[in-house]
Amino acid sequence: MFCSNCGKENNNEAKFCHSCGQEISGVQTAQVTQAAPPAAAGVQNQPTVQAGVSPKDRTTAILFCIFLGAHRIYVGKIGSGIAMVLLWVVGYATSAMAIGIPLTIGYLIWAIIDLVKIVQGKFTDSNGLLLIKK
Ligand SMILES: [Zn+2]
Repeated sequence: MFCSNCGKENNNEAKFCHSCGQEISGVQTAQVTQAAPPAAAGVQNQPTVQAGVSPKDRTTAILFCIFLGAHRIYVGKIGSGIAMVLLWVVGYATSAMAIGIPLTIGYLIWAIIDLVKIVQGKFTDSNGLLLIKK
């Protein structure tokens, strides 16, 4: 947006003009607030394709990993994704028996390694593209 005082262009998030220090008026701030939701929706509907970067959302993958262990299915790694879900489902179902404990521990270790990779931006989807923070 442009400063109402000196006319210099400023960052949309700026509260004060970088050129003259004039406070940018509340009317312009309100316009920015109104403009933001359609822009955000557009990003979700049409993910920006960057070289080497997965269109999958990293935060969604983290939530899938924590709550379902299904992040591998989410990124298209269907085979290992189903294996991971089966591991904790079978581990949970057999938790009253001795076999359930190593299965569950195996799942937890695997899921935690994946979770760390996702958080670090080192996890890849089925196409070998990195899930990174956008
Ligand atoms: Zn100014």
